[in-house]
Amino acid sequence: MKPPIVLPESVPMMRSHLAVLLCFALLAGQTQGAAAQVVSGRVHAAPVVSGAAGAAVRPVNLTSGLNITGSQLTPLAGVLPNAGVLPTVSALPSVQAQAQVLQAQPAAAAVPAAAASPIQVLPASQQIAPKAAPSAASEAPGAAVQAVHPAAAQTDEAQAVQAETKGRGLLAALMRALRGEKTAELFQGGRRGQGFVPTAEPTEVDGVQLDPKPTLPQASTALSRASLPGRRQSLLSRLFGRSQAESIDLPGAPQDVAGIEAALRKFVSENPAQFGGISVDSLYTVMAKKVAGKAGLADVVYVSFRQQHNAVPIEGSDLTFTVKLFNGRTTIVHTAAQLYQDVTVDTDGKLSETDVLAKAASRLGNLPNAAEDLLDLGSKIMHLGGQWRAVSLRMSKALSLVVAVDLNTGEAFAWDPRMHVETEPAKQAPVDLPGTAVGRGVADGPMKEGVEPDVLPLGHVEIKTDDGKTYYADAEGKFTVQGEGDKPVTLSVRLNGKFARVNDRSGQALVVTVVAKPGEELRVVFNPAGAAETALAQVNAYAHVTRIHDWLLEQGIDLEAFKRPLPIVTNIDDECNAYYTPYNPSLNFFKSSERCANSSYNDVIYHEYGHYVDDKAHGGIPNGGLSEGWGDIFSMLLTKQPVLGRGFLKGQAQDYIRHGENTYQYHSSDEVHDQGQAWGGFGWKLRKALVASLGEAEGAALASALVVPVMLASVRDIPKAIEAVLMRDVDQDGETPHFKEIAAAAKAHGITVKKPKPGLSEPLVTVDGDGPMGQMVRAIARTARALANVSRTQVRAVSTAASAKGMTLAAAPAKEIPADAQVKAKVPFTAGALIRGQVRREIQRFCDYHGLQYELKEYKGLLESDFLLTVEGPYSTLKQLTDWLQSLAN
Ligand SMILES: [Zn+2]
Repeated sequence: MKPPIVLPESVPMMRSHLAVLLCFALLAGQTQGAAAQVVSGRVHAAPVVSGAAGAAVRPVNLTSGLNITGSQLTPLAGVLPNAGVLPTVSALPSVQAQAQVLQAQPAAAAVPAAAASPIQVLPASQQIAPKAAPSAASEAPGAAVQAVHPAAAQTDEAQAVQAETKGRGLLAALMRALRGEKTAELFQGGRRGQGFVPTAEPTEVDGVQLDPKPTLPQASTALSRASLPGRRQSLLSRLFGRSQAESIDLPGAPQDVAGIEAALRKFVSENPAQFGGISVDSLYTVMAKKVAGKAGLADVVYVSFRQQHNAVPIEGSDLTFTVKLFNGRTTIVHTAAQLYQDVTVDTDGKLSETDVLAKAASRLGNLPNAAEDLLDLGSKIMHLGGQWRAVSLRMSKALSLVVAVDLNTGEAFAWDPRMHVETEPAKQAPVDLPGTAVGRGVADGPMKEGVEPDVLPLGHVEIKTDDGKTYYADAEGKFTVQGEGDKPVTLSVRLNGKFARVNDRSGQALVVTVVAKPGEELRVVFNPAGAAETALAQVNAYAHVTRIHDWLLEQGIDLEAFKRPLPIVTNIDDECNAYYTPYNPSLNFFKSSERCANSSYNDVIYHEYGHYVDDKAHGGIPNGGLSEGWGDIFSMLLTKQPVLGRGFLKGQAQDYIRHGENTYQYHSSDEVHDQGQAWGGFGWKLRKALVASLGEAEGAALASALVVPVMLASVRDIPKAIEAVLMRDVDQDGETPHFKEIAAAAKAHGITVKKPKPGLSEPLVTVDGDGPMGQMVRAIARTARALANVSRTQVRAVSTAASAKGMTLAAAPAKEIPADAQVKAKVPFTAGALIRGQVRREIQRFCDYHGLQYELKEYKGLLESDFLLTVEGPYSTLKQLTDWLQSLAN
């Protein structure tokens, strides 16, 4: 139980707004339980087809789905009879009341408003299947909740919340809502998506229900501490005699990575109190890398340890150090820890190898050939199902799923796919025929019709000769192959190299075959003539992945994973996105469509590559928001401009995805792409400020040197990443010469950076919105929106009878859908307590008038109701209805 919110005396304005909101809530006066109210039309709608395919597995997308606006659908022809027309928005007065409430709150402007939701007709392959389709039995109110709910656990949560609401009374419940503890979301694609098509993690793959990924409990030692060098002492440290702590220099001042790692281990063992008494023997090294100083910064060594128990790694634990090398001194400037003291699980376990295989196979739906199919990923200690467990981790190659079997209890947990498809590059061979490999693609930005392609070097490309030898080009695409006398050599080249391997889906994979004669300069040209999209996409993918790989190496990011080719899938038959697959590294790009450009171009490629680096640097992406920002930062620094996804959206006033000049205010609970804007925006604004003071070349180099190696600092969120930038700026006197620029770039995103002082200091970076005032402002804006608004409207046309013209909806672009096509749509939406009754009645009236088959389920909460409308009828009539809902949401 949390204490009630106490309003600060200094905010009378807030108090008056709160009073208004309290009145709204009292007027609404809803304290119903969780039972769903179901309203049905003449014939109960048949169960929604749950679709053969579940949601595609796209764990890390470019966007959270793209906003396909309703205006791109066919305008409705004809006017419907008056009685069948829905009221205008203004006829629903409380929608305006809501607008007034928001307008009356200046602070609300700082909070991103709920974006208008898209109406999108999804092709069959993208249908998001409910976990269980509603059945006839599900018409009972209690069961109905179960039937459409994405997860049973959430239903329980919703019921628990509402039961509690009833017990504690209206005021307590409102306070609860104000504190942001909203009632559970009942539909897929919750608020976080801001109206975009959700790309939720899959809950089922090939009939196997998935568990949540492993989580982390509260650490027994959680630490994030800067300790700066410097001659000055603060008054406090002088008073308390802490002068010896003003900087932590490692004895003997080791300069090499191995020496520093050993000295850090010694430091941990000599200071047990600081690290929760963790034995240094229980730490193993995850990463130890030196980043050479650039642009005037000192050399930095990043070292990251992880705990193990009986030589089994504890997943999620870490202890990281940032060490600077100043003129013969080796100084720890930052320490962060996430350590667990009482992880004492039995790692020997009772289960035999045979038992483990049997449990894993059974968890994966009686997987056949388990012994062959399940790859052994070793034993680990993971936090699964609410407790630490020693598990045997296996991966099914057939299902691309990971399964963890508890070695003591035999319980098995399954989640996300992994795949280890990696090959060793072949050896370099002696040479004597020189050549160059290039391809025609787009150097910068999306493909544009009528624009002559650029010639791009194909660095590190693999060249195979007919005598079975393999060679590699250098970074500029130059190579030499060995010949024998006058004998011609036949070369076969694919877009396959040391660091990138293109796997094209268009059926037109590029291959070049060249016959080389001694004495001739060899020229391997991919896509020599064409402006064909499929060819440009392949060349772009190869050239830009290779380019960012080489650029990151220059910035000091040198990972083991970089030594292997990264699979890149191009021209996937889908549209408007791109994605990276964590654990199973591959970048994936979609074809162009009427709405979006082919996503295989530099902005998008660099963004997705950011996820790959983030994943590989840390053995798993530590933070979704930070990861989104990494991709955006790489893209902006490499393209030297702030727009991400230039020209991605066709025919729209805003044709890009995100912008470095954004004004997003960071909050740790926001949707990951939103959060990412703070890190991307910080990076761009810092670059801009440094370029303004130092000039383009020097400013850009310094920005990259300050920001990019933070990838190796193993930080856990965006504020910590900004703190790590500050640590990179620290010089040997404990000064931060670019503090002003760093602080200003952070402040632009609601993050305050304190100027570090010599000596120890606790976290230097705080989030403005995390203070009591920020939380209240957010809570009020959220509550105002929830009370009198329709939100999260999404139309999913999940099934259709073939129309008279024989056209299936799933296959048709939206604008070609005939007005009389029979469509079944599933429309989840949320309506605030002040208007939900009217919205419900209007839908009933409209559907009855037009003779539509429909079913309307309502799940009443205190402040709002979640609705699920399933409706079937002619496309044009349904469009009328969904447009109306959309207009309320706008
Ligand atoms: Zn992304």
